[in-house]
Amino acid sequence: MLSSDIDHLLTTSDPTAIDELYAEACRLRDAAYGRQVFVRGLIEITNHCGNDCLYCGIRRSNTCRRYRLTKEQILDCCRQGHELGIRTFVLQGGEDAWMTDERVADIVKSIRSQYPDCAITLSLGERGYDSFCRLREAGADRYLLRHETADRDHYARLHPTEMSFDHRMQCLRDLRELGYQVGCGFMVGSPFQTIETIKKDLAFIADFKPEMVGIGPFIPAEGTPFADRKAGSIEMTLRLLAIIRLLLPKVLLPATTALGTLHPKGRELAIAAGANVVMPNLSPQDTRALYSIYNNKLSTGSEAAESIADIRARLKAIGMDTPVSRGDFKA
Ligand code: SAH
Repeated sequence: MLSSDIDHLLTTSDPTAIDELYAEACRLRDAAYGRQVFVRGLIEITNHCGNDCLYCGIRRSNTCRRYRLTKEQILDCCRQGHELGIRTFVLQGGEDAWMTDERVADIVKSIRSQYPDCAITLSLGERGYDSFCRLREAGADRYLLRHETADRDHYARLHPTEMSFDHRMQCLRDLRELGYQVGCGFMVGSPFQTIETIKKDLAFIADFKPEMVGIGPFIPAEGTPFADRKAGSIEMTLRLLAIIRLLLPKVLLPATTALGTLHPKGRELAIAAGANVVMPNLSPQDTRALYSIYNNKLSTGSEAAESIADIRARLKAIGMDTPVSRGDFKA
């Protein structure tokens, strides 16, 4: 796609042009995967974090109650998810030093041997090449690591000085080299984001060609430096979902919880803009509220794995199937 086309799609206020964009995104998705939405069970394994990202509610400096799941609790989540027909488990968490390679590899191996028909996705932040290698050997298939912004100066305004844009980008390249299906992504409407930084995000995505892209609106988190900022726009998030589908027709693109948190029909709107993944929460009920990366984060109702029948029904109502399948990227 030409950069002048992207400019136009990002800035137009012509409702017909926007409707056509959504329709084209859905056509491309349906041509690649059919009328299917893939379900991932999200298990938030720890909210301990050594990082201090300015936007995040579980940043190191925030005084929130901390928890970490045991291996047994995580396996129990997988068992419940498997019974519900979920065939991808996403283990997400803060950058918790307790989660050593040895401990995470042990958890991954257990899931791999007990649920050989499932995909294992990790989203545990930045680690070293050898660590990613060990976790891949243990059986992890995919890794989600949002790049957060492809603009170096913007990155520096969202993160403390000890965090490095280059290292985050290097992690994405390492994951790719190790044979993971890789996901990058960014928040829509994060502080200091501009159309120019968004264009860099899209150029990076078009060039890196990740198997997955996670985008959702920024939502302020209590106790953080950005607590009083305004949330990102739903409309812009939908438009970007559709543009990303145009850039990468086969990409696995979730309707994120952040969108569901800002709008009761957020998930359906995202699917109508070209998304094809949902990630209901499979964490133990009593720790869900503690993984508070932003205010009022939904983890019940249509965001809860135990409501999967309702999720399937809502998707069926907009003409989408939810297969019991790993939902791998189609090469
Ligand atoms: N520690 C892991 C997981 C972070 S949580 C990592 O570094 O990848 C997953 C994603 O939530 C982040 O990548 C970020 O894009 C998003 N997130 C964090 N704070 C947010 C906020 N206030 N509003 C919206 N999304 C947020």
